[in-house]
Amino acid sequence: MHNLEGRRVTVYCAGSAKVQPKYLRAAEVLAADLVDAGASLLFGGGKTGLMGHLATCVLERGGKVQGVMPHLLKDIEMNHPGVDDFTFVHSMAERKALLLQDTAGLVAMPGGTGTLDELIEAVTLKRLGQYLQPIVLLNQDGFYDALIALIDRMVDEEFMNPEHRNLWTVVAHPNEVIPALKSTPLWDAQAVLRASVK
Ligand code: AMP
Repeated sequence: MHNLEGRRVTVYCAGSAKVQPKYLRAAEVLAADLVDAGASLLFGGGKTGLMGHLATCVLERGGKVQGVMPHLLKDIEMNHPGVDDFTFVHSMAERKALLLQDTAGLVAMPGGTGTLDELIEAVTLKRLGQYLQPIVLLNQDGFYDALIALIDRMVDEEFMNPEHRNLWTVVAHPNEVIPALKSTPLWDAQAVLRASVK
C-alpha cells in the first residue's frame, strides 16, 4: 500500500462548464478523499468545469492545490483565481510533462480531448517504463467503456501485450479512486523491454 500523505496526485479532468451534475458530485467525493488522504492536488489550473470545481472543493476542505498552465490559457484568464501556487509554462507539451513530475499517481476523470490526450500520453510513457506510478481511470457510468474496449482490441490484435491492459486501474466510483491509487503496484522500469509485441 502506498501512503499518499504529503504526496501530490495529478488529476486530469474536463474544462467544460456544462458537465452534468453527477460528474461534479464525483469531483466533490474525490476532492474530499484526496484531502483526507493527506495528498495535494496537481492539475491543469483551470477555473471552469470539473477542473475548477475539483480545485475549489480541495481548497474549501483545507487542501493544497498546485496548477500548471500555459501562458496562452492564462492570457485569456482561464486560471483558477483561488489557486495561488501556479507554474506557468510555454506549451501544452511542457504542461503535460510537469503534470507527471513528482506525483504519487494520476487520475483521469471523464473529460474531452484534453483529458484523453493527457491520459494516453501518460499510459504510453508508462508502457515505455518512463512513468511508473499508478494511473486510475474513473469509468463513471461506463464513460470510458469504448476506450477500454479499444485497448482490449489493441491487445487482442497484438498491437500491444496483454500486460498493457494493466497500465491503468479502472474504477467505477469516485470513492474507489484513492484506494486504487494506494493499492496499485508500481510499474516495472524494465517495461521498455516488453513495450512492443515480439
Ligand atoms: P478537456 O478534457 O478537453 O476539457 O481538457 C481538459 C484537460 O486539458 C485538463 O486536464 C487541462 O490540462 C487541459 N485543458 C483543456 N481546457 C482547459 C482550460 N480551459 N483551462 C485549463 N486547462 C484546460
